[in-house]
Parts: sequence; C-alpha cells; structure tokens
Amino acid sequence: MSEQPGEFIGNSADIIRAAFSQGGILASKLGDFEERPEQLEMALAVWESLISPSHLLVEAGTGTGKSLAYLFPTALWCRETGKRVVISTHTINLQQQLVHKDIPLVAGAISGSGFDLRYSQIKGRNHYVCLRRLGQLAEEVSQRTSLFVANAEERAIQDIYELSAGNSWDGDRDRLPFPVPDAVWSLVCSESDRCMSSKCSRFAHCFYQKHRRRLEECHMIVVNHALFASHLAIWSQSSGNTGLLPGFEAVIFDEAHHLEDAIRDSLGMEVSPGRLKRLVDDTVRMARTGVIGRSITREGIRQLGEILDSRMSAVQRILQKLDPVRLVGRDKTRLRDIGLFDEEVVKSIRDLGKEIQYWEDFDLSDEERFEVQSLRRRFVALSQDLYGISNLDGDGESHVYWAESVEGPRSGHVSLKRAPLEVGDYLRETLWSAVPAAILTSATLATGSSFEYQKHMLSLPNAAELILGSPFDYREQVRLCVPKDSRGQDVNSPPFNDFVADKVVEIAGMTCGRMFVLFTNKKSMERVAELVRDKVEEMGYPFMKQGDAPRDALLKDFKEKGNAVLFGLDSFWEGVDVPGQALSCVVITKLPFPVPDDPVMEAREQVWRSQGLVPFTHYSLPVATLKLRQGFGRLIRTKTDRGAVVILDPRIATKHYGRTILKSLPPARLTFDLEDVAEAVSFS
Ligand code: SF4
Repeated sequence: MSEQPGEFIGNSADIIRAAFSQGGILASKLGDFEERPEQLEMALAVWESLISPSHLLVEAGTGTGKSLAYLFPTALWCRETGKRVVISTHTINLQQQLVHKDIPLVAGAISGSGFDLRYSQIKGRNHYVCLRRLGQLAEEVSQRTSLFVANAEERAIQDIYELSAGNSWDGDRDRLPFPVPDAVWSLVCSESDRCMSSKCSRFAHCFYQKHRRRLEECHMIVVNHALFASHLAIWSQSSGNTGLLPGFEAVIFDEAHHLEDAIRDSLGMEVSPGRLKRLVDDTVRMARTGVIGRSITREGIRQLGEILDSRMSAVQRILQKLDPVRLVGRDKTRLRDIGLFDEEVVKSIRDLGKEIQYWEDFDLSDEERFEVQSLRRRFVALSQDLYGISNLDGDGESHVYWAESVEGPRSGHVSLKRAPLEVGDYLRETLWSAVPAAILTSATLATGSSFEYQKHMLSLPNAAELILGSPFDYREQVRLCVPKDSRGQDVNSPPFNDFVADKVVEIAGMTCGRMFVLFTNKKSMERVAELVRDKVEEMGYPFMKQGDAPRDALLKDFKEKGNAVLFGLDSFWEGVDVPGQALSCVVITKLPFPVPDDPVMEAREQVWRSQGLVPFTHYSLPVATLKLRQGFGRLIRTKTDRGAVVILDPRIATKHYGRTILKSLPPARLTFDLEDVAEAVSFS
C-alpha cells in the first residue's frame, strides 16, 4: 500500500524525506510545491541539529524555501519531545509570513499525526498598551476635560481608553482601528521600568501579560531579534531567573546576518534629550497628582520644576556642545575626552533621586510607591550613565562612546551613546552555553564560501556549516554588468554622481523603467535624484525615492505602476520582494563598504589591529560582500524572473578584492558592455 499525504510512517528522517517529496504532505497543502533537493538537505540538517543538540549555520540561497525547511523538522521535534523553540527574525514582514502562512501550513500538515502545534508571536512590549498608565492618564484627562475642551492628544487617549474597555482589541498598537501619534503612544505603552508586573492591579487583564502567559502554552514562539536580545540581557542580568520569554530548548535565527547588531544594540546605553524630558515630565506629573499632589504645595511643585529644569539644562547644554554636525560635519563623532560632565552635575542628578525619596513617607498607594521608587531608580541610572560617559569606562577596550545627532542632522538634538565592541563572549556565555540547539540561517551568511567571519563575530567556532545554492538558474536569468566606462571613475569624488545620473537615465531607457537604484549614502542619492528625476519622468517612467513616502507605500506603488524607477538606501537592499517584470534591473551605485569614520567601526578597527587582524579583510570586505549579495538578491525572486544587475563602482573590476566579491555573487553571466542589459531584460 502506498503512503498517503498526511501519514507519518518510518523514522523521523524518513518522514521529513516524504514530506518534502513531490507527492508528500507539504505538496498536498501547497498548490505550487516543487521538490527541491536543497530544501530537503536543509530540513535534514536542521533535524540533526535539534535531535543531537548542536549549533548549525545554514546559508540557503533565494528560492530554497528555507522557512519550511526549518519549520517542518522543528514541528516534528516539538511533537516528539514536547519542547519549545523560539524563532527570531529581523523583519516584521518575515514574522508575519511565518505566523500567518508558513507555520499554519506546517501545523496543518503535522495535525494529521494527531499533534496540535501551538504557536504565537510576541512583539516588543512597547507595542502593547499599559492599562495602568492608560488608566492614570485617562483619569487626568477626564478631570481636565470637565473644565476645558479636550485637545487632539487628550481625545486620542480617551479613544484608546474606551477601546481598551471593550473586547474587540488585543492591546497591540498595530491593530488599533485609528492612527495614534508616537507622542501619545509613548505615554500609554508598556515599558519595562514602569511595569509593576504581578504587583499591578491590572495584571490579570493586562494585554501584554496575557500575551506572555499564552506563550507558556506554545511550542513555537516567533519574535524579532531586538526582543530576543532584550530577553537575553534581562535573563543574563537576573542569572537566568527571569526574562521576557518562557524557557526554550532550541532557537532558530532567520535573517541571522542581523543578529550581531541586534545584540550590540541591546547592550548599549544612551543619554538622549528624550530620556531627560521623559524623566522631568514624569516627575512633575507625579508631584501634581494623587496623594503626593495633595501633600505638597503649589510653591513646592514650582520649586521642584525649577530644580529639575536647571539640572537637566546643565546636561542638555553639554549635549548640545557636542553636536557632531557642527563639530565635524557628520552625524556622529567619537567621544575622546574624559571629564565631560562636571562631578557636581552628575551628583546633582543623583541627588534628585534622593530628594524625591521623602515622597515615600506620604501615605502612598502601592502603585504610587512603585512609581516613586521607579523614578528614583531612573535618576540613579542616569547619574551612573553620565558618570560612565564622563570617565569613558572601558573605552577602546570593551566599549566605544560617541555623540550622535538625532531626529535629523539639523535638529540640534544630540544623544550620547555607548556600545560594546564585541558580543561574541557574551553570546557564548549567555546563549550558546545555555541553549544547545541553535540554527542560524540567512540567504547571505557566508563570504567566499566561508562562515569564518560569522563564526568569529558570534563566537561559534565549532558550529556545523551548510551552504546551499539557489534553485534558480542565474546564468540564464541574470546578466551582471560592470560598464567599461566606469573604469577610471573615482567613486568618492563629486563627479561620480554625474556619472551615476547619466548611467541611470541610459539604463532606464533600456529597461523601460522597472529598476531599483541602490545607494549607500543619502547625500549622493539626493544629488543624483535631482539630476535624473525630470529626465526619467519625461521618458514616461514614474520616479520614486526613499523618504518621499513610507517604505511599504513606495513599494506598493512601485509594484502597481510596473515601470517605475526607485531610488533606495539601506532598507531597499534587503527584505524587499518584487517578483515579475516590475523589477527587471538593480543598479548598485557603489560597493557597500561600512563607513570608515563611524565611531564603532573606528574603535573596533583599533582592537582588531592590536590582535594582528587586518580590518579591511577581517570586517569591511565580508560586510560589503554580504550586503552586495543582498542587493543583488532583490532581482530574482522566482524561476521565471529575468533581468540585469549593473554595478557602477569600478573597483569590483579593477581592485584585487573585487575578484573575491565577484566570486561570492550568484553565478550570473558577466559583461562589461552596457548594451547587454537591453537583451537581458527583453520582455516576453
Ligand atoms: S502589568 Fe505592567 S504593563 Fe500590564 S498594566 Fe500593569 S504596569 Fe502596565
């Protein structure tokens, strides 16, 4: 008797082989399933890594079907062991695809064996409303609006409050039926240092806590890298006693090439104008309301406001003095001098915490007491951070400090930041040693057929490796063009923008629009846009540029128009999927090397040099190669896509490292003749 789709016969590896075969269970669920040897190979490797707990790095080219390749064996593992897995991705798009499409499909496939796969997604806590903060604000608003007409901010708070009292909303900002400005949401969202957790009177009804409790029931939990990194930080600080996620025995990182940055961000620190303002606002609000408001005089509140203003202004003045745009003409500059903050300034901030401590003597409710203690902790943390910045603790050894212009280069708003230089040791101690089964995958993880770079950065020296080619026929589907007249161009000189503009117009004529032009630098993008916008539009092709509209709206418009030219920065190099003829050409204006004068880069380079490593080959080249491969990957999304990738940066053809980069790209046919682009995109 032949096996029917849905039957689970034989050992697990046999079940996986059958599932990924043409007549298997996945084919029966997917209308357009194609048997792909690469997909099966990955699924078996993932299974192996789960049952013999180990670490695995998998690069799976576009079109492999990698999400199903890890989801199916993982679901099987959950069924057989009852254990839990966390799946972490960089982009919300991929999380949505997993939760709404791929996992339900796998759950349906495996349900034939009588197993109910339970799964859920959790977002960062500030995506959810905090009922306690919302309740406090709504009460304040209702008192005020009994005397005055509600303003727009107050109406928004009332609307959220009314909605939260019904059953139609799950507390997630993304599911609000009306838009809420960031400034309002920041007043009512859940925040870790404002959360009373199980001591909160709204704990049982709290949307965020309900989401968390639901996770306890799940086999698969989908999160983003940022939330995972925050969980890890809390988990390690509490010596494994608490975290944002329930315990899990395996983790899968998709889009794993972003993991290192997410971990670094979670371990960073920032003193920003927003942080100072929030602390002042929260302190003044506390002084005006509830028991404290009834216990101190108006004069006392006025004096407190003055003290807060003068001490925070002292910090603010130093922040503004360090404006990198004014000092060095860039949006970031490394901090080099110790003693930035006068000891008196740091002490005066810490003393503010002590000064409000006497509020605890009032007859406070549990909630108010928690708020006062939380405020006090925030003043202490701020003074500690200022002290750390002032002394540049660990600068150049374990950390780097810099000033950064925020909210736009001309806003005059400056933040001071600290980040760790390396995260490998931290990951080894907190994650790899605690979670024995970990799978890291991406379409771009290796450089030059080697995982050396990722292994070093993530401290995974013994991880197993698997590189799977794409099922696409790149030789047939893509021409890679490096125009011969790009030779001799100096990519760092202003005339290069004129060269790029000429080429974009020329290529748009051959491709009938239908192209992405990817930039590494906003200034260049704006300059070239100025030069080509009118010409492209006169040719009859819609012109779009990142920043003109939200990314998703631009992308939707680009797909609908079908013959547009789109200029994009970072967020268009990856995670963008435009199958079909609407995207027939990708122009790479410049090789995406990391910016050499970035303070983090600069400090890390010094460390690598001291370790005998050459920063260019150790870091810049792998990073540029991975990013270029991402940009290239925008072009071919299906077996029927065709087109051209044009690289205008001559260094790929003239420099010795260019050969290394070229070897890492999918095996498209190379040409130096721009005319070949026309043939590559000739439309059927
Ligand atoms: S448990 Fe925390 S997040 Fe939930 S309502 Fe209470 S304070 Fe807000």
